[in-house]
This record gives sequence, C-alpha cells and structure tokens, in this order.
Amino acid sequence: MPVNKKSYEQIIADLGSRHVTLVAVSKTKSVEEIKELYDLGQKDFGENYVQELATKQAQLPKDIRWHFIGHLQGNKVKQIAPFIHLIQSVDSYRLLQKINKEGLKNDRVIECLLQVHIAQEETKFGLDENELNELINMNSDEPASPAGRLQELKNVQIRGLMGMASFTDDMKKVRAEFKHLKSIFDKLQTLNSEFRTLSMGMSADYPIAIEEGSTMIRIGSLIFGARD
Ligand SMILES: *Cc1c(COP(=O)(O)O)cnc(C)c1O
Repeated sequence: MPVNKKSYEQIIADLGSRHVTLVAVSKTKSVEEIKELYDLGQKDFGENYVQELATKQAQLPKDIRWHFIGHLQGNKVKQIAPFIHLIQSVDSYRLLQKINKEGLKNDRVIECLLQVHIAQEETKFGLDENELNELINMNSDEPASPAGRLQELKNVQIRGLMGMASFTDDMKKVRAEFKHLKSIFDKLQTLNSEFRTLSMGMSADYPIAIEEGSTMIRIGSLIFGARD
C-alpha cells in the first residue's frame, strides 16, 4: 500500500512550529514503504519487534533515527544496541542494566524513555506509578536510597516518559490519561533536567496528546494505512 502522503503532510502541518517530533510507526510495513516516506523527508521511525527492526535497519539509509517502541526482552537488546536512537519502552531496572551493558560494548550512551502504564486496560505494558517512583528514586542522593544505582549506568540516559492511552472512543478519558502522564512528567522534570521527552499520542488521539503537552507522537496507520 502506498504511503498516505496527504495525511502525512496534514500531520506535519498540524505540528507546525510546535516542538513535537513525529515518529512514523512502520511495524509490519515494507522497506519500500519506509523508503517512500523517508524520501519525503521523514527521519524518525518506530518499530515494535527486534528482528523486524534489525532486518529493516540493515537495508535502509543509515541516517534514519530508529525508535524501539515494543516490549523489549533483555536478551534481544544486543541486536539493536549498535544503532538504536531511542528505546521508548523501558519498564524495569533489569532492562536498563542490560541496555547499559550493551551500550558499553558498543561504546555509546543509549537514550531511553520509561514506559508508564496510564490506561485502565490490563494488556498494556509499562510501569505503574509506584514502580516508576521506585525506579526514579534510585537517582536520589540520599545515602539511604539504593546508592544512586541509576547514575551508575553510565551508558544509559533516561530522557523522559512514554505512555499509551486506553483504546476507547471516550476522548474525555483519553485526555484525562494524557493529563495524568503530563503531571508525572512535570514532576520528574523538576527533579531531573535531563528529562525532555514526553512521548504520547497515536493515530486516533494525537491532537489531544499535543494539547496536553506531548513532545513526541507515534503515528502508524494514519500514515501507512491499516495494518493486517
Ligand atoms: C503500533 C503503535 C503505535 C502506532 O499506532 P497507530 O494507531 O497505528 O498510530 C504507537 N505506539 C505504539 C507503542 C505502538 O505499538
């Protein structure tokens, strides 16, 4: 299926001068389709599966910024560590350790977002607020905390948060979930100046996400058409 150029240009126009990054979610789409969008100027692409991403990355221009947005297993980090631009779906300290180790091997600092569970659905991955606080507090300088364990991970840089709203037509509910995530983000940003990215908003809800303070949207079907 060809890229929906009109829709792509509409999104770019909507973003206008706002500082919001568009990540084109290309999961299940071919390298030809990705190349078509790349040729229109798109440089940020998102993928959910490690093997699919690694295969595509090898075939496509090297200046593409690849975002990993799916559930990531520790034993697969090494396949994407050499090139990944941003891992948006970090949901545990263990995974951060793994990413740090692979970052070190590749002599690079790998940027990550922590995925926060804001939807009511059970199926969505991510940290709940307690787990997030626990992980973030590792950053604290208090001697009683787990000794700044996060800061020991020199080859990982946490840049912010990612979240997905409930899959529902109830846009009031979606808005409330985005508002909630933004409030968590704001709180963390006052503690940590390295925090700058709030990734929220997909095809069905990105205008609301932008109104609620998103700095990065992840759009698949609106650009590439429905997935099989
Ligand atoms: C698939 C996916 C998207 C894009 O979804 P669309 O509704 O097609 O825009 C965004 N974020 C994540 C985490 C995804 O898995």
